[in-house]
Amino acid sequence: ATTSATTAGHGSGDSAISPDDAPLLSVRHLKKSYGTHEVLKDVSFDVKRGQVLVLLGPSGSGKSTLIRCLNGLETIQGGEIVFKGQAVPANNERAWRKLRTEIGMVFQSYDLFPNLTVAKNIELGPTKVQKRPKAEVDEQMDRLLADVQLSEYKNAYPRELSGGQKQRIAIVRALAMNPELMLFDEVTASLDPEMVREVLELMLRLAKRHMTMIVVTHEMEFARRVADTVMFLENGVILERQSGNEFFTHPQTDRARNFLESMA
Ligand code: ADP
Ligand code: MG
Repeated sequence: ATTSATTAGHGSGDSAISPDDAPLLSVRHLKKSYGTHEVLKDVSFDVKRGQVLVLLGPSGSGKSTLIRCLNGLETIQGGEIVFKGQAVPANNERAWRKLRTEIGMVFQSYDLFPNLTVAKNIELGPTKVQKRPKAEVDEQMDRLLADVQLSEYKNAYPRELSGGQKQRIAIVRALAMNPELMLFDEVTASLDPEMVREVLELMLRLAKRHMTMIVVTHEMEFARRVADTVMFLENGVILERQSGNEFFTHPQTDRARNFLESMA
């Protein structure tokens, strides 16, 4: 069933595939250019529910661009994105808005609203965008804050938090939307070393709880622990895609081998 899922074409609900086997996300022949510069060249891959896909590649290979395309933050020049069996039409802003409520995203830079408290930052999306009752959202927020041991910072402003605390709040804020997929783009890259671990441990916990995740990271030890699948990107082309174990022990290309050596 897995192989048929990969060849199911345009996600139009092949009845032979059970919903559990069908990919949560399918990227088909994705092309992205800035002017004449082709940044993503015919990129195709699937992500199944509960899977952690780690996206590796040298700087400038197109990792961030790919992540942004998945969330409709970039216009694409070709191909399509199929989420839960439905192609998201390029020009359907409404479909993209809905998708963005189902896909959580955390970047390298802390993107908390500086003028809002931690609680307001977390409540905003669930109450204003999803229009869920505040009481229900607050209950969930309290659970999430307790889980990351930041309950006491509920009424603090982002400037009162360390970088690691801000990133954990950014993750909590994304989780409060109950996303089906989480995208992480180098979320520890601007953190002081002593704060990196607390953020990576939170991501490892999410993975253990079967959150579906696409993770861009330069933390190789973490990547090795968290990855079900590794995808190695270079110049906008997927050079390798295999299980995490296979990738880290037997990279197939010289490029990937050199990359791993440079990161060691
Ligand atoms: P990575 O995240 O793997 O380091 P990026 O996706 O950021 O790579 O960038 C891939 C390529 O796209 C790079 O050559 C970069 O210069 C180019 N690029 C990224 N964003 C833009 C942009 N907004 N305008 C023009 N070129 C861009
Ligand atoms: Mg990047």
